[in-house]
Amino acid sequence: MSDGVAIADSATSSNTGASHIEHFDVLIVGAGLSGIGAAYHLQKKCPTKSFAILEGRAAIGGTWDLFRYPGVRSDSDMFTLGYPFRPWSDAKAIADGPSILNYIRDTAREYGIDRKIRYGHKVQRASWSSAQAAWTVEATLADGNTVHLTANFLFMCSGYYDYVEGYMPGWPNMDSFRGRIVHPQHWPADLDYAGKRVVVIGSGATAVTLVPAMAETAAHVTMLQRSPSYIVARPSKDFIADWLRGKLPARLAHTLIRWKNVLIGMYFYNLARRKPDVTKKGILRLAQKQLGPGYDVTKHFSPSYNPWDQRLCLVPDADLFASIRSGKASVVTDQIESFTETGLRLKSGEDLPADIIVTATGLKVQLLGGMQVVIDGAPANLSRSLTYKGMMYSDVPNLASAFGYTNASWTLKSDLTCEYLCRLLNHMDAAGYAYCTPRRRDPSIAEEPAINFSSGYIQRASDVLPKQGSRKPWKLHQNYALDMLEFRFAGIDDGIVEFSRRKNGTAV
Ligand SMILES: Cc1cc2nc3c(=O)[nH]c(=O)nc-3n(C[C@H](O)[C@H](O)[C@H](O)COP(=O)(O)OP(=O)(O)OC[C@H]3O[C@@H](n4cnc5c(N)ncnc54)[C@H](O)[C@@H]3O)c2cc1C
Repeated sequence: MSDGVAIADSATSSNTGASHIEHFDVLIVGAGLSGIGAAYHLQKKCPTKSFAILEGRAAIGGTWDLFRYPGVRSDSDMFTLGYPFRPWSDAKAIADGPSILNYIRDTAREYGIDRKIRYGHKVQRASWSSAQAAWTVEATLADGNTVHLTANFLFMCSGYYDYVEGYMPGWPNMDSFRGRIVHPQHWPADLDYAGKRVVVIGSGATAVTLVPAMAETAAHVTMLQRSPSYIVARPSKDFIADWLRGKLPARLAHTLIRWKNVLIGMYFYNLARRKPDVTKKGILRLAQKQLGPGYDVTKHFSPSYNPWDQRLCLVPDADLFASIRSGKASVVTDQIESFTETGLRLKSGEDLPADIIVTATGLKVQLLGGMQVVIDGAPANLSRSLTYKGMMYSDVPNLASAFGYTNASWTLKSDLTCEYLCRLLNHMDAAGYAYCTPRRRDPSIAEEPAINFSSGYIQRASDVLPKQGSRKPWKLHQNYALDMLEFRFAGIDDGIVEFSRRKNGTAV
Protein backbone atom coordinates (compact mmCIF):
# COMPACT_ATOMS: atom_id res chain seq x y z
CA MET A 1 0.00 0.00 0.00
CA SER A 2 1.32 3.41 -0.86
CA ASP A 3 1.20 6.41 1.36
CA GLY A 4 -0.07 9.67 -0.04
CA VAL A 5 1.29 10.87 -3.35
CA ALA A 6 2.37 14.44 -3.89
CA ILE A 7 0.58 16.31 -6.65
CA ALA A 8 1.21 19.71 -8.16
CA ASP A 9 -0.37 22.48 -6.11
CA SER A 10 -2.49 24.20 -8.69
CA ALA A 11 -5.66 24.88 -6.76
CA THR A 12 -4.47 25.63 -3.27
CA SER A 13 -1.68 27.39 -1.48
CA SER A 14 -0.27 26.62 1.92
CA ASN A 15 1.02 28.99 4.57
CA THR A 16 3.90 26.61 4.99
CA GLY A 17 4.98 27.55 1.49
CA ALA A 18 5.03 23.94 0.25
CA SER A 19 4.82 23.68 -3.50
CA HIS A 20 2.93 20.43 -3.62
CA ILE A 21 -0.06 18.88 -1.91
CA GLU A 22 -0.14 15.32 -0.70
CA HIS A 23 -2.95 13.25 -2.11
CA PHE A 24 -4.70 10.23 -0.62
CA ASP A 25 -7.48 7.99 -1.84
CA VAL A 26 -9.14 8.36 1.55
CA LEU A 27 -8.59 10.77 4.42
CA ILE A 28 -9.96 9.71 7.78
CA VAL A 29 -10.53 12.54 10.26
CA GLY A 30 -10.15 11.47 13.89
CA ALA A 31 -8.03 8.82 15.62
CA GLY A 32 -10.59 7.68 18.18
CA LEU A 33 -12.38 4.33 18.40
CA SER A 34 -14.02 4.89 15.00
CA GLY A 35 -10.99 6.23 13.13
CA ILE A 36 -8.80 3.28 14.15
CA GLY A 37 -11.62 0.87 13.21
CA ALA A 38 -12.01 2.62 9.84
CA ALA A 39 -8.29 2.25 9.11
CA TYR A 40 -8.42 -1.47 9.97
CA HIS A 41 -11.26 -2.06 7.50
CA LEU A 42 -9.64 0.01 4.75
CA GLN A 43 -6.36 -1.86 5.08
CA LYS A 44 -8.13 -5.20 5.00
CA LYS A 45 -10.85 -4.68 2.41
CA CYS A 46 -9.39 -1.95 0.18
CA PRO A 47 -5.68 -2.84 0.39
CA THR A 48 -4.65 -0.70 -2.59
CA LYS A 49 -6.16 2.50 -1.22
CA SER A 50 -3.78 5.07 0.18
CA PHE A 51 -5.01 6.77 3.33
CA ALA A 52 -4.00 8.82 6.33
CA ILE A 53 -5.70 9.71 9.58
CA LEU A 54 -5.75 13.40 10.48
CA GLU A 55 -6.05 13.89 14.24
CA GLY A 56 -6.50 17.33 15.73
CA ARG A 57 -5.05 16.43 19.11
CA ALA A 58 -1.62 15.10 20.00
CA ALA A 59 -2.99 11.73 21.09
CA ILE A 60 -4.87 8.67 19.89
CA GLY A 61 -8.12 7.54 21.54
CA GLY A 62 -10.51 10.50 21.23
CA THR A 63 -13.10 10.32 24.01
CA TRP A 64 -11.05 7.80 25.96
CA ASP A 65 -8.01 10.04 26.05
CA LEU A 66 -9.82 13.34 26.57
CA PHE A 67 -11.95 12.38 29.58
CA ARG A 68 -9.85 11.96 32.73
CA TYR A 69 -12.36 12.42 35.53
CA PRO A 70 -12.37 10.00 38.47
CA GLY A 71 -13.96 6.67 37.63
CA VAL A 72 -14.33 7.40 33.88
CA ARG A 73 -15.64 4.23 32.26
CA SER A 74 -17.91 2.85 29.58
CA ASP A 75 -21.52 2.16 30.30
CA SER A 76 -21.73 -0.31 27.44
CA ASP A 77 -20.10 -3.70 27.63
CA MET A 78 -16.76 -3.91 25.85
CA PHE A 79 -17.79 -6.92 23.77
CA THR A 80 -20.03 -4.58 21.80
CA LEU A 81 -18.12 -1.31 22.34
CA GLY A 82 -14.88 -3.08 21.33
CA TYR A 83 -14.09 -4.07 17.76
CA PRO A 84 -15.52 -7.28 16.33
CA PHE A 85 -12.08 -8.07 14.89
CA ARG A 86 -10.11 -7.73 18.16
CA PRO A 87 -11.42 -9.66 21.15
CA TRP A 88 -11.76 -7.83 24.45
CA SER A 89 -9.69 -9.83 26.91
CA ASP A 90 -9.86 -7.84 30.17
CA ALA A 91 -11.75 -9.28 33.11
CA LYS A 92 -14.30 -6.45 33.31
CA ALA A 93 -16.98 -6.12 30.63
CA ILE A 94 -17.78 -2.58 31.79
CA ALA A 95 -14.30 -1.13 31.51
CA ASP A 96 -12.50 1.90 32.90
CA GLY A 97 -11.34 4.67 30.56
CA PRO A 98 -7.60 3.87 30.73
CA SER A 99 -8.25 0.22 29.76
CA ILE A 100 -10.31 1.32 26.76
CA LEU A 101 -7.59 3.77 25.76
CA ASN A 102 -4.98 0.99 25.95
CA TYR A 103 -7.19 -1.25 23.84
CA ILE A 104 -7.45 1.43 21.11
CA ARG A 105 -3.70 2.12 21.26
CA ASP A 106 -2.84 -1.59 21.14
CA THR A 107 -5.17 -2.14 18.19
CA ALA A 108 -3.55 0.73 16.27
CA ARG A 109 -0.07 -0.62 17.03
CA GLU A 110 -0.93 -4.23 16.23
CA TYR A 111 -2.23 -3.37 12.75
CA GLY A 112 0.35 -0.69 11.95
CA ILE A 113 -2.35 1.97 11.98
CA ASP A 114 -0.41 4.18 14.40
CA ARG A 115 2.03 4.95 11.57
CA LYS A 116 -0.82 6.41 9.50
CA ILE A 117 -1.83 9.05 12.04
CA ARG A 118 -0.88 12.69 11.51
CA TYR A 119 -1.25 14.26 14.94
CA GLY A 120 -1.88 17.95 15.50
CA HIS A 121 -3.88 18.28 12.24
CA LYS A 122 -7.13 20.01 13.15
CA VAL A 123 -9.29 19.92 10.03
CA GLN A 124 -11.02 23.23 9.51
CA ARG A 125 -12.42 23.10 6.04
CA ALA A 126 -13.01 20.67 3.17
CA SER A 127 -13.74 21.89 -0.34
CA TRP A 128 -15.09 19.50 -2.92
CA SER A 129 -14.34 19.92 -6.61
CA SER A 130 -16.51 17.87 -8.97
CA ALA A 131 -14.09 18.69 -11.79
CA GLN A 132 -11.22 17.10 -9.87
CA ALA A 133 -13.41 14.52 -8.10
CA ALA A 134 -11.54 15.33 -4.91
CA TRP A 135 -11.66 17.14 -1.62
CA THR A 136 -9.08 19.71 -0.65
CA VAL A 137 -8.74 19.54 3.10
CA GLU A 138 -7.36 22.42 5.13
CA ALA A 139 -5.93 21.64 8.54
CA THR A 140 -4.37 23.83 11.20
CA LEU A 141 -1.16 22.45 12.64
CA ALA A 142 -0.13 22.62 16.27
CA ASP A 143 2.33 25.44 15.42
CA GLY A 144 -0.48 27.52 13.89
CA ASN A 145 0.49 26.88 10.29
CA THR A 146 -2.00 25.59 7.75
CA VAL A 147 -1.56 22.53 5.58
CA HIS A 148 -3.59 21.36 2.60
CA LEU A 149 -4.11 17.78 1.50
CA THR A 150 -6.36 16.27 -1.13
CA ALA A 151 -8.39 13.09 -1.05
CA ASN A 152 -11.00 11.42 -3.20
CA PHE A 153 -13.05 10.34 -0.21
CA LEU A 154 -13.41 11.89 3.22
CA PHE A 155 -14.37 9.71 6.16
CA MET A 156 -15.28 11.74 9.23
CA CYS A 157 -14.56 9.79 12.42
CA SER A 158 -14.60 12.98 14.43
CA GLY A 159 -17.15 11.96 17.06
CA TYR A 160 -20.20 14.03 17.91
CA TYR A 161 -19.15 16.75 20.31
CA ASP A 162 -16.96 19.82 20.62
CA TYR A 163 -13.56 18.89 22.03
CA VAL A 164 -12.75 22.47 23.00
CA GLU A 165 -15.46 22.96 25.60
CA GLY A 166 -18.34 21.15 27.21
CA TYR A 167 -21.81 22.55 27.82
CA MET A 168 -21.88 24.96 30.73
CA PRO A 169 -25.17 26.68 31.53
CA GLY A 170 -24.67 29.99 33.30
CA TRP A 171 -25.94 30.47 36.86
CA PRO A 172 -26.16 33.69 38.83
CA ASN A 173 -23.15 34.63 40.97
CA MET A 174 -20.82 31.87 39.79
CA ASP A 175 -17.91 34.26 40.29
CA SER A 176 -18.69 34.63 43.98
CA PHE A 177 -18.00 30.94 44.78
CA ARG A 178 -14.71 30.70 46.73
CA GLY A 179 -14.14 26.99 45.98
CA ARG A 180 -13.25 25.36 42.69
CA ILE A 181 -15.62 24.85 39.74
CA VAL A 182 -14.66 21.97 37.45
CA HIS A 183 -16.10 20.66 34.18
CA PRO A 184 -15.53 16.91 33.65
CA GLN A 185 -14.34 17.49 30.09
CA HIS A 186 -11.29 19.35 31.45
CA TRP A 187 -10.47 17.57 34.67
CA PRO A 188 -7.53 19.25 36.46
CA ALA A 189 -4.84 16.67 37.17
CA ASP A 190 -4.02 18.45 40.45
CA LEU A 191 -7.56 18.45 41.87
CA ASP A 192 -7.43 17.07 45.39
CA TYR A 193 -10.90 16.30 46.66
CA ALA A 194 -9.96 14.05 49.59
CA GLY A 195 -11.90 15.16 52.65
CA LYS A 196 -13.73 17.87 50.68
CA ARG A 197 -17.44 18.51 50.26
CA VAL A 198 -18.29 18.01 46.60
CA VAL A 199 -21.46 18.87 44.69
CA VAL A 200 -21.87 17.25 41.27
CA ILE A 201 -24.46 19.08 39.17
CA GLY A 202 -26.17 16.70 36.75
CA SER A 203 -27.89 13.34 36.55
CA GLY A 204 -26.45 11.81 33.38
CA ALA A 205 -23.85 9.12 32.77
CA THR A 206 -20.96 11.34 33.85
CA ALA A 207 -22.59 12.41 37.12
CA VAL A 208 -23.51 8.86 38.12
CA THR A 209 -19.94 7.77 37.40
CA LEU A 210 -18.31 10.62 39.30
CA VAL A 211 -20.40 10.41 42.44
CA PRO A 212 -19.33 6.94 43.70
CA ALA A 213 -15.74 7.44 42.48
CA MET A 214 -15.29 10.74 44.35
CA ALA A 215 -17.24 9.51 47.38
CA GLU A 216 -14.45 7.03 48.07
CA THR A 217 -12.24 9.81 49.49
CA ALA A 218 -14.35 12.99 49.60
CA ALA A 219 -16.01 14.05 52.86
CA HIS A 220 -19.36 13.87 51.08
CA VAL A 221 -20.61 14.00 47.49
CA THR A 222 -24.04 15.41 46.62
CA MET A 223 -25.54 14.73 43.23
CA LEU A 224 -27.69 17.77 42.53
CA GLN A 225 -30.17 17.13 39.75
CA ARG A 226 -32.92 19.25 38.30
CA SER A 227 -34.70 16.08 37.20
CA PRO A 228 -33.88 12.38 37.60
CA SER A 229 -32.59 9.88 35.02
CA TYR A 230 -33.31 6.16 34.80
CA ILE A 231 -30.52 4.36 36.60
CA VAL A 232 -30.03 0.65 36.21
CA ALA A 233 -27.43 -1.46 38.02
CA ARG A 234 -25.50 -4.11 36.15
CA PRO A 235 -22.57 -6.38 37.10
CA SER A 236 -19.25 -5.11 35.73
CA LYS A 237 -18.24 -8.70 35.06
CA ASP A 238 -20.08 -10.94 32.62
CA PHE A 239 -20.04 -14.46 34.00
CA ILE A 240 -21.40 -16.11 30.84
CA ALA A 241 -18.70 -14.29 28.89
CA ASP A 242 -16.03 -15.50 31.29
CA TRP A 243 -17.28 -19.05 30.96
CA LEU A 244 -17.29 -18.87 27.15
CA ARG A 245 -13.82 -17.27 27.14
CA GLY A 246 -12.57 -20.15 29.26
CA LYS A 247 -13.92 -22.79 26.87
CA LEU A 248 -13.60 -21.38 23.35
CA PRO A 249 -10.96 -19.72 21.14
CA ALA A 250 -10.85 -15.97 21.82
CA ARG A 251 -12.34 -14.84 18.48
CA LEU A 252 -15.24 -17.29 18.59
CA ALA A 253 -16.00 -16.47 22.22
CA HIS A 254 -15.90 -12.74 21.43
CA THR A 255 -18.34 -13.15 18.54
CA LEU A 256 -20.77 -15.22 20.60
CA ILE A 257 -20.65 -12.86 23.57
CA ARG A 258 -21.07 -9.88 21.26
CA TRP A 259 -24.22 -11.39 19.75
CA LYS A 260 -25.53 -12.40 23.16
CA ASN A 261 -25.18 -8.81 24.34
CA VAL A 262 -26.62 -7.34 21.13
CA LEU A 263 -29.71 -9.55 21.41
CA ILE A 264 -30.19 -8.92 25.13
CA GLY A 265 -29.84 -5.17 24.51
CA MET A 266 -32.37 -5.30 21.66
CA TYR A 267 -34.80 -7.30 23.77
CA PHE A 268 -34.75 -4.84 26.67
CA TYR A 269 -34.87 -1.81 24.39
CA ASN A 270 -37.92 -3.16 22.55
CA LEU A 271 -39.59 -4.16 25.81
CA ALA A 272 -39.06 -0.63 27.16
CA ARG A 273 -40.55 0.94 24.03
CA ARG A 274 -43.53 -1.42 23.91
CA LYS A 275 -44.27 -1.46 27.64
CA PRO A 276 -42.88 1.75 29.11
CA ASP A 277 -45.00 1.61 32.27
CA VAL A 278 -43.96 -1.94 33.13
CA THR A 279 -40.31 -1.10 32.44
CA LYS A 280 -40.45 2.07 34.51
CA LYS A 281 -41.99 0.24 37.46
CA GLY A 282 -39.34 -2.49 37.16
CA ILE A 283 -36.48 0.03 37.17
CA LEU A 284 -37.93 1.86 40.18
CA ARG A 285 -38.51 -1.40 42.04
CA LEU A 286 -34.84 -2.34 41.58
CA ALA A 287 -33.72 1.11 42.80
CA GLN A 288 -35.99 0.80 45.84
CA LYS A 289 -34.54 -2.62 46.61
CA GLN A 290 -31.03 -1.14 46.48
CA LEU A 291 -31.85 1.90 48.62
CA GLY A 292 -34.31 0.46 51.11
CA PRO A 293 -38.03 1.01 51.71
CA GLY A 294 -37.62 4.44 53.36
CA TYR A 295 -35.87 6.03 50.37
CA ASP A 296 -37.92 8.37 48.15
CA VAL A 297 -37.17 6.78 44.73
CA THR A 298 -40.19 8.47 43.18
CA LYS A 299 -38.62 11.86 43.84
CA HIS A 300 -35.01 11.06 42.98
CA PHE A 301 -35.10 8.22 40.45
CA SER A 302 -38.38 8.55 38.55
CA PRO A 303 -37.99 10.70 35.41
CA SER A 304 -40.93 12.43 33.74
CA TYR A 305 -40.13 10.73 30.41
CA ASN A 306 -40.33 7.08 29.36
CA PRO A 307 -37.34 4.70 29.41
CA TRP A 308 -35.20 5.21 26.30
CA ASP A 309 -36.67 8.63 25.47
CA GLN A 310 -33.18 9.38 26.73
CA ARG A 311 -30.23 7.03 27.17
CA LEU A 312 -30.45 4.90 30.34
CA CYS A 313 -27.62 5.30 32.85
CA LEU A 314 -25.94 2.07 33.83
CA VAL A 315 -24.14 1.80 37.14
CA PRO A 316 -21.71 -1.14 37.36
CA ASP A 317 -22.07 -3.29 40.46
CA ALA A 318 -24.67 -0.80 41.77
CA ASP A 319 -21.79 1.45 42.91
CA LEU A 320 -23.91 4.62 43.00
CA PHE A 321 -26.56 2.96 45.16
CA ALA A 322 -23.88 1.56 47.47
CA SER A 323 -22.35 4.98 48.08
CA ILE A 324 -25.79 6.47 48.79
CA ARG A 325 -26.50 3.62 51.23
CA SER A 326 -23.19 4.22 52.98
CA GLY A 327 -24.07 7.88 53.56
CA LYS A 328 -21.00 9.08 51.64
CA ALA A 329 -23.18 10.33 48.78
CA SER A 330 -26.69 11.71 48.49
CA VAL A 331 -29.08 12.92 45.83
CA VAL A 332 -30.83 16.29 45.92
CA THR A 333 -33.55 16.98 43.35
CA ASP A 334 -33.95 20.73 43.18
CA GLN A 335 -32.92 23.73 41.09
CA ILE A 336 -30.10 26.19 41.50
CA GLU A 337 -31.17 29.69 42.51
CA SER A 338 -27.60 31.00 42.55
CA PHE A 339 -24.03 30.25 43.52
CA THR A 340 -22.92 31.65 46.86
CA GLU A 341 -19.46 32.15 48.38
CA THR A 342 -19.75 28.79 50.12
CA GLY A 343 -21.82 26.68 47.74
CA LEU A 344 -25.23 26.78 46.15
CA ARG A 345 -28.57 28.34 47.11
CA LEU A 346 -31.43 26.18 45.82
CA LYS A 347 -34.88 27.25 44.67
CA SER A 348 -36.39 25.39 47.63
CA GLY A 349 -34.45 27.78 49.90
CA GLU A 350 -31.95 25.12 50.99
CA ASP A 351 -28.22 25.98 51.03
CA LEU A 352 -25.83 23.31 49.76
CA PRO A 353 -22.31 23.86 51.11
CA ALA A 354 -19.42 22.85 48.84
CA ASP A 355 -15.65 23.09 48.51
CA ILE A 356 -15.74 21.82 44.92
CA ILE A 357 -18.59 22.06 42.40
CA VAL A 358 -18.44 19.75 39.38
CA THR A 359 -20.64 20.81 36.48
CA ALA A 360 -21.49 17.46 34.87
CA THR A 361 -23.83 19.34 32.57
CA GLY A 362 -22.91 17.60 29.36
CA LEU A 363 -21.41 18.03 25.96
CA LYS A 364 -21.83 20.49 23.14
CA VAL A 365 -22.87 18.49 20.11
CA GLN A 366 -20.82 19.29 17.04
CA LEU A 367 -21.14 17.91 13.54
CA LEU A 368 -18.09 16.84 11.48
CA GLY A 369 -15.66 18.07 14.13
CA GLY A 370 -16.61 21.66 13.37
CA MET A 371 -15.32 21.35 9.80
CA GLN A 372 -16.72 23.76 7.22
CA VAL A 373 -17.88 22.07 4.00
CA VAL A 374 -17.74 23.74 0.60
CA ILE A 375 -19.07 22.04 -2.53
CA ASP A 376 -17.94 23.36 -5.89
CA GLY A 377 -17.34 26.78 -4.39
CA ALA A 378 -20.61 27.07 -2.41
CA PRO A 379 -20.74 26.60 1.40
CA ALA A 380 -22.87 23.56 2.27
CA ASN A 381 -25.27 23.60 5.19
CA LEU A 382 -25.49 20.04 6.41
CA SER A 383 -28.24 20.81 8.89
CA ARG A 384 -30.52 21.07 5.84
CA SER A 385 -29.48 17.70 4.46
CA LEU A 386 -30.91 14.25 5.07
CA THR A 387 -28.70 11.49 6.37
CA TYR A 388 -28.40 8.50 4.06
CA LYS A 389 -28.09 5.20 6.00
CA GLY A 390 -27.02 7.36 8.95
CA MET A 391 -23.60 7.80 7.31
CA MET A 392 -23.77 10.07 4.24
CA TYR A 393 -25.58 13.32 3.53
CA SER A 394 -27.89 14.26 0.68
CA ASP A 395 -26.11 16.24 -2.04
CA VAL A 396 -22.68 15.83 -0.42
CA PRO A 397 -20.35 13.73 -2.61
CA ASN A 398 -17.76 11.24 -1.36
CA LEU A 399 -18.14 12.03 2.32
CA ALA A 400 -19.26 9.71 5.09
CA SER A 401 -19.40 9.94 8.89
CA ALA A 402 -19.04 7.25 11.50
CA PHE A 403 -21.84 7.48 14.05
CA GLY A 404 -22.93 5.07 16.70
CA TYR A 405 -26.29 3.96 18.00
CA THR A 406 -28.11 5.86 20.69
CA ASN A 407 -29.67 2.66 22.07
CA ALA A 408 -26.63 0.38 21.87
CA SER A 409 -22.85 0.53 21.72
CA TRP A 410 -21.37 3.12 19.37
CA THR A 411 -19.00 0.69 17.68
CA LEU A 412 -21.77 -1.62 16.48
CA LYS A 413 -22.93 1.01 14.01
CA SER A 414 -19.62 2.71 13.32
CA ASP A 415 -18.10 -0.65 12.42
CA LEU A 416 -20.94 -1.47 10.01
CA THR A 417 -20.43 1.98 8.48
CA CYS A 418 -16.73 1.20 7.91
CA GLU A 419 -17.62 -2.11 6.26
CA TYR A 420 -20.17 -0.43 4.02
CA LEU A 421 -17.74 2.31 3.06
CA CYS A 422 -15.27 -0.35 1.85
CA ARG A 423 -18.02 -2.03 -0.18
CA LEU A 424 -18.92 1.34 -1.67
CA LEU A 425 -15.31 2.18 -2.59
CA ASN A 426 -14.78 -1.25 -4.16
CA HIS A 427 -18.03 -0.94 -6.08
CA MET A 428 -16.98 2.45 -7.46
CA ASP A 429 -13.57 1.13 -8.46
CA ALA A 430 -15.04 -1.90 -10.21
CA ALA A 431 -17.51 0.23 -12.15
CA GLY A 432 -15.09 3.08 -12.87
CA TYR A 433 -16.95 5.70 -10.86
CA ALA A 434 -15.09 8.64 -9.35
CA TYR A 435 -17.71 9.83 -6.90
CA CYS A 436 -21.10 9.15 -5.46
CA THR A 437 -23.76 11.46 -4.05
CA PRO A 438 -26.97 10.51 -2.23
CA ARG A 439 -29.80 12.39 -3.95
CA ARG A 440 -33.14 13.12 -2.41
CA ARG A 441 -35.55 12.92 -5.31
CA ASP A 442 -38.68 11.47 -3.71
CA PRO A 443 -40.85 14.37 -2.46
CA SER A 444 -42.92 12.02 -0.29
CA ILE A 445 -39.96 11.51 2.08
CA ALA A 446 -40.81 13.60 5.17
CA GLU A 447 -38.16 15.05 7.47
CA GLU A 448 -37.71 13.76 11.03
CA PRO A 449 -35.11 14.57 13.69
CA ALA A 450 -31.92 12.55 13.10
CA ILE A 451 -31.84 11.55 16.77
CA ASN A 452 -35.16 11.01 18.43
CA PHE A 453 -34.05 11.76 21.99
CA SER A 454 -35.45 14.30 24.42
CA SER A 455 -32.03 14.74 26.10
CA GLY A 456 -30.89 18.33 26.58
CA TYR A 457 -27.72 17.96 24.48
CA ILE A 458 -29.71 16.63 21.49
CA GLN A 459 -32.44 19.27 21.82
CA ARG A 460 -29.85 22.08 22.04
CA ALA A 461 -28.25 20.81 18.82
CA SER A 462 -31.46 20.31 16.84
CA ASP A 463 -30.74 23.17 14.45
CA VAL A 464 -27.17 22.07 13.65
CA LEU A 465 -27.91 18.37 13.18
CA PRO A 466 -29.04 17.04 9.80
CA LYS A 467 -32.45 15.39 9.58
CA GLN A 468 -33.40 11.85 8.75
CA GLY A 469 -36.14 10.82 6.34
CA SER A 470 -39.38 9.03 7.04
CA ARG A 471 -38.33 5.89 5.12
CA LYS A 472 -35.16 3.90 4.61
CA PRO A 473 -32.46 4.40 3.38
CA TRP A 474 -32.96 7.88 4.79
CA LYS A 475 -34.27 6.56 8.09
CA LEU A 476 -32.16 4.88 10.75
CA HIS A 477 -33.17 1.47 12.03
CA GLN A 478 -31.41 1.85 15.40
CA ASN A 479 -31.26 -1.93 15.20
CA TYR A 480 -27.95 -3.71 14.69
CA ALA A 481 -29.40 -6.92 13.23
CA LEU A 482 -31.41 -5.09 10.54
CA ASP A 483 -28.54 -2.73 9.77
CA MET A 484 -26.12 -5.61 9.50
CA LEU A 485 -28.25 -7.28 6.85
CA GLU A 486 -28.60 -4.04 4.95
CA PHE A 487 -25.03 -2.79 5.25
CA ARG A 488 -23.46 -6.15 4.40
CA PHE A 489 -25.80 -7.52 1.79
CA ALA A 490 -28.06 -4.87 0.20
CA GLY A 491 -27.12 -3.68 -3.31
CA ILE A 492 -24.91 -0.60 -3.35
CA ASP A 493 -26.53 0.89 -6.43
CA ASP A 494 -29.98 1.52 -4.93
CA GLY A 495 -31.12 4.26 -7.30
CA ILE A 496 -30.72 6.86 -4.57
CA VAL A 497 -26.96 7.25 -4.65
CA GLU A 498 -25.94 8.92 -7.89
CA PHE A 499 -22.64 7.63 -9.29
CA SER A 500 -20.46 9.87 -11.47
CA ARG A 501 -17.46 9.23 -13.68
CA ARG A 502 -14.32 11.32 -13.96
CA LYS A 503 -14.42 14.30 -16.21
CA ASN A 504 -11.65 14.03 -18.80
CA GLY A 505 -8.18 14.34 -17.44
CA THR A 506 -8.91 16.70 -14.56
CA ALA A 507 -9.37 14.30 -11.68
CA VAL A 508 -6.72 13.72 -9.02
C1 LIG B 1 -17.48 10.10 28.93
C2 LIG B 1 -18.07 9.34 27.79
C3 LIG B 1 -18.43 8.01 27.93
C4 LIG B 1 -18.96 7.31 26.86
N1 LIG B 1 -19.32 5.99 27.05
C5 LIG B 1 -19.85 5.32 26.03
C6 LIG B 1 -20.25 3.96 26.18
O1 LIG B 1 -20.12 3.36 27.23
N2 LIG B 1 -20.79 3.34 25.12
C7 LIG B 1 -20.95 3.95 23.92
O2 LIG B 1 -21.44 3.33 22.99
N3 LIG B 1 -20.58 5.22 23.75
C8 LIG B 1 -20.04 5.92 24.76
N4 LIG B 1 -19.67 7.23 24.57
C9 LIG B 1 -19.74 7.81 23.24
C10 LIG B 1 -18.29 7.75 22.68
O3 LIG B 1 -17.90 8.98 22.27
C11 LIG B 1 -18.18 6.65 21.65
O4 LIG B 1 -18.38 5.42 22.25
C12 LIG B 1 -16.82 6.53 20.95
O5 LIG B 1 -15.74 6.66 21.83
C13 LIG B 1 -16.75 7.51 19.84
O6 LIG B 1 -15.59 7.23 19.12
P1 LIG B 1 -15.25 8.11 17.85
O7 LIG B 1 -13.90 7.69 17.42
O8 LIG B 1 -16.34 8.02 16.86
O9 LIG B 1 -15.26 9.62 18.39
P2 LIG B 1 -14.32 10.29 19.46
O10 LIG B 1 -13.91 9.37 20.52
O11 LIG B 1 -15.01 11.54 19.86
O12 LIG B 1 -13.01 10.65 18.64
C14 LIG B 1 -13.03 11.64 17.65
C15 LIG B 1 -11.62 12.03 17.30
O13 LIG B 1 -11.68 12.96 16.23
C16 LIG B 1 -10.83 14.05 16.50
N5 LIG B 1 -11.36 15.22 15.80
C17 LIG B 1 -12.57 15.83 15.99
N6 LIG B 1 -12.70 16.87 15.15
C18 LIG B 1 -11.56 16.93 14.43
C19 LIG B 1 -11.11 17.81 13.42
N7 LIG B 1 -11.86 18.81 12.97
N8 LIG B 1 -9.87 17.60 12.89
C20 LIG B 1 -9.08 16.57 13.32
N9 LIG B 1 -9.47 15.72 14.29
C21 LIG B 1 -10.70 15.89 14.84
C22 LIG B 1 -10.86 14.19 18.01
O14 LIG B 1 -9.73 14.89 18.47
C23 LIG B 1 -10.90 12.74 18.44
O15 LIG B 1 -9.63 12.19 18.60
C24 LIG B 1 -19.14 7.96 25.62
C25 LIG B 1 -18.81 9.30 25.48
C26 LIG B 1 -18.28 9.99 26.55
C27 LIG B 1 -17.95 11.44 26.36
